[in-house]
This record gives sequence, structure tokens and C-alpha cells, in this order.
Amino acid sequence: MSIATSEQTVVDGVNKQLYIGGEWRDASGGDTLAVEDPSTEEALCEVADATPEDAVAALDAASEVQNEWKEHPPRERGEILRRAFERIVERTDELALLMTLEMGKPLAESKAEIAYAAEFFRWFSEEAVRIEGTYSVAATGSGRVLTMKQPVGPCILITPWNFPMAMGTRKIGPAVAAGCTMVIKPAKQTPLCMLALAQILEESGLPGGVLNVVTSSSSGSVMEPLIRDPRARKLSFTGSTEVGRKLIEQSAQEILRVSMELGGNAPFLIFDDADLNAAVEGALLAKMRNVGEACTAANRFHVADEVAGEFAEKLASRMDEMKVGRGTEEGVQVGPLIDGDQRGKVSELVEDALGKGAKALVGAEKMEGAGYFYRPTVLNDVSQDANLLKEEIFGPVAPVASFGSEEEAIAAANDTEYGLVAYVFTRDLKRALRVCEGLETGMVGLNQGIVSNASAPFGGIKHSGFGREGGAAGIEEYLETKYVAINL
Ligand code: NAP
Repeated sequence: MSIATSEQTVVDGVNKQLYIGGEWRDASGGDTLAVEDPSTEEALCEVADATPEDAVAALDAASEVQNEWKEHPPRERGEILRRAFERIVERTDELALLMTLEMGKPLAESKAEIAYAAEFFRWFSEEAVRIEGTYSVAATGSGRVLTMKQPVGPCILITPWNFPMAMGTRKIGPAVAAGCTMVIKPAKQTPLCMLALAQILEESGLPGGVLNVVTSSSSGSVMEPLIRDPRARKLSFTGSTEVGRKLIEQSAQEILRVSMELGGNAPFLIFDDADLNAAVEGALLAKMRNVGEACTAANRFHVADEVAGEFAEKLASRMDEMKVGRGTEEGVQVGPLIDGDQRGKVSELVEDALGKGAKALVGAEKMEGAGYFYRPTVLNDVSQDANLLKEEIFGPVAPVASFGSEEEAIAAANDTEYGLVAYVFTRDLKRALRVCEGLETGMVGLNQGIVSNASAPFGGIKHSGFGREGGAAGIEEYLETKYVAINL
């Protein structure tokens, strides 16, 4: 099957080379890697497949302009981001189509991600001119304490495929605003969005060398030399806990500043006093956004005994109505999973739960034909030992389990090594605050199924990582505090 002309045009519009030192160039080994459309399993195009030498050249470029870039006036750094924000918004339709083609999510969701991604540039364009130090009287009264903020230095940024543009702008925005240069590596499944973003930043006046993009099929061998290079000063990674752990080890050698946005296993708690219809709406958003392929996806629903059955039925009926198909088609709400491995993993988790006594209210099967489609699934009466209550599902599967008391609900929610986000539905204010305080997560959605917001500090605790992206905290990750002791 050949792709439509409009689709070919957006794919053709992206430069497929490496972006290093303000120039577009082929990989030094001459290799390319194929980008696939997960809804057809067909190749869309080829992009440059970087070697470790290319990655080192990218860090050379970033290091070379670091001193110059940190002197660049903050207002101008902000205005580059502002112009890029405006260009992204103007080009929403074409960027959304590009995202849907390489990642699979429905066009409406791609548009929502483009808006979210652009917002990080707008937010950090405003932060660039608000980087402040302090001046205070030392406790003894005799000296003065001056603090100043300075850019960390060249950064290594690594992003996943599930939000191919927003995970980029969430790192590039604060780095540019703070005066850091960077080498960024997108996931091999979704390089096109990052390449399109680099083109937009170039057009918006970002000087060559500040941002360098390396696409590669061998992320480990290409990135490790950079992480171990003393010129790099920071690593910001979004991806799985397994890879994050490996990268933390590698970063230990040069004592890099590290930010880790890792996996999640979000509990979604519904108390018997909750507005059940609002909880179903929240559940659909928290579960089905991005086909369930989100670190913030509700991974398990813990529902009060009194309302668990009714909630599961209502959710199942809504999920059953969702239209599954290629994300470019009218009315499609559920796209394919990213690849065959991911679909295989989802399928295994569902089989394991069914084998341990869960009942499938809807779904629980792969779809026939091309593309990595899996039917929206609701499983009821899921037993505590089912693997999908412990592992990140990353697919359109909602397991429902029930609880008796508030203490039991909090204990079940916290019974995981992850700690990214939790969702709580209750109309009792005191209970809401008690539960929010008791949850071991970096974020809580209270009576809402989404927490992502450029003006808020996004991040996790426990095995979900450390560091915050977005909000006022986001830029701090790219700044060092220098203290000057003054003797008056
Ligand atoms: P992944 O396998 O960990 O990959 C993430 C990125 O790391 C990709 O660019 C990947 O490149 C690269 N990578 C893999 N192995 C590497 C290595 N040895 N050295 C350097 N880079 C390496 O995760 P994923 O499957 O793409 O993404 C899904 C995960 O991301 C989920 O666990 C999800 O929860 C998490 N996530 C977290 C957040 C958050 O903010 N907390 C947000 C979104 C996603 P290649 O793919 O090209 O190998």
C-alpha cells in the first residue's frame, strides 16, 4: 500500500540527516535506518543511522559553542523559543500528521501533543528572563551571601517514542532558556518529529551547535561514549526504568547531573463517594490517552467494593465503543501499538491475568491484519498476583480490582516500586487530602485523569526517577547555583 500524497509530502518535508554544528549531514558510515508506520507495518522513509564518531562530533559542536551560548542575552534565547512556539502552532496540522504516521496515535491526539509540546517552548521563553540569584546577610551579620545561577553546560538528552515531540521540547526548552548546549537522541521508532523540531529551531534563529540531533539504531554504543565524556555535564533521560538504571551507572563516572523520567505503574483509586460518571471519564482519559502508551497511564483501577462492578461495566461499555484503526482515519480513537514486541507484551500480560481468574468484559485480543492493533480491554476481578498489576502495561488494557477500606486502597496503590503518578476520585475533601498525602508518587490527579501541564513540575519518586520537568522547577535542572562569600 502506498501512502497518500499529503502524507508523502510531510514525510518528504523532513530533513533525514544528522543535525550537527548547524549543518545537516549523512551518517559517517553512510548507513540509514528505516522508520515504520505501525498501522501498516510498512516503511515510511529512511533516516541517517549515526555512528559513535558522529555522536562525538555532535558533542564537539555542543562544547565548542557552550561559552558563547551562555553569554547570549536571555531575552534573545527566550525569543528564539517564542518564535519556535509560534511556528509549531502554525504548523500543527502537518506536524500532527507526521507524528501519527511514525507513532500511530490518532490525529486528534497528535494535535493535542503538538499543543502540549509547543507550550513548553512558550513557558520556557518566559523563564529565560527570570533566572535570578539572591543577596542576603549571613547569619553572623558580618558577611554577605551572594548566589548566582549559571548554565550547567553541555547536556545529553535522550527521549522515548511515546510522546516524540513533547518529551523533546520539555528538555530542549529549559536547556535553551538556561544557556546550555545539547546533543539529543530520539528513539529509533520516531526520529522524524525530532528532526522536524530541529528544523523549526534552526528557522527560529537557534545558532548552530546549540542543538545537535543524532538519530541511531544503536543507542547504547552511540550514547555511552558521550555519557562518559568529561565535556558533558548533564544527562536528562526519559524512558524505561531498566535503561535509566544503566545510564545512571554510566553517569557515575563523570559525576553528571542527572534527571530521570522513568516508568510508572499508576493506580487509579475510586472511592464509594466519588462521582462515578466523572470517574469513568477520568479513567478513559488516564487509560486510553496515547493508546495507553504513557508513563502516566492508569495501570490499575482500585475501586471501592460497593461501586467496583458498576464502574467496570460502565468503563467496558465506553471502551467497547471506541473506534480502532489507522490514526489518520476519521473518527479513530485508538491507534496501533508501537511495534510487535509491545503488542506481544500486552497480550502476554492479559493472558497471565485471565489465567489467574480475571474476567474479560471487553477486548482481550489482538486484531487481525496489518498493524499492531489490540482491542481496548477491561478485565474485572483481577487477582493480586496478576503480573499486570505490577508491570507497566503500556497498552489499552484496564484491570479492575476492588478494595474495602481507605487504608487498604492506599496500601494497594503504594504496593509498587514505581512512584510517578496516582489518580484519586472522591468528593470528600478530608479524604482527598489524606489520600494525596499518603500516596508515594511525585504527582496526583485529584478528580481528573490527566496531570500533564507545562506549568507544573512533572516527575516521579522511587523507581520512576528523580528531577522535575516543566514549571519553575524545570529550568533549575539546567542551572547550577554558585555561592560567593563576601566579607564586608
Ligand atoms: P527505552 O527503551 O528506555 O528507550 C528510551 C530512549 O532510550 C530511546 O531513545 C532509546 O533509544 C534510548 N536507549 C535505549 N537503550 C539505551 C542505552 N543503552 N543507552 C542510551 N540510550 C538508550 O523506553 P521506551 O520503550 O522508548 O519508552 C517507554 C518508557 O518510557 C516507558 O517505561 C515509559 O514509562 C517511559 N516514559 C517515562 C516518562 C516520564 O516522564 N516519566 C515519559 C514518557 C515515557 P532506542 O529506542 O533508539 O534504542
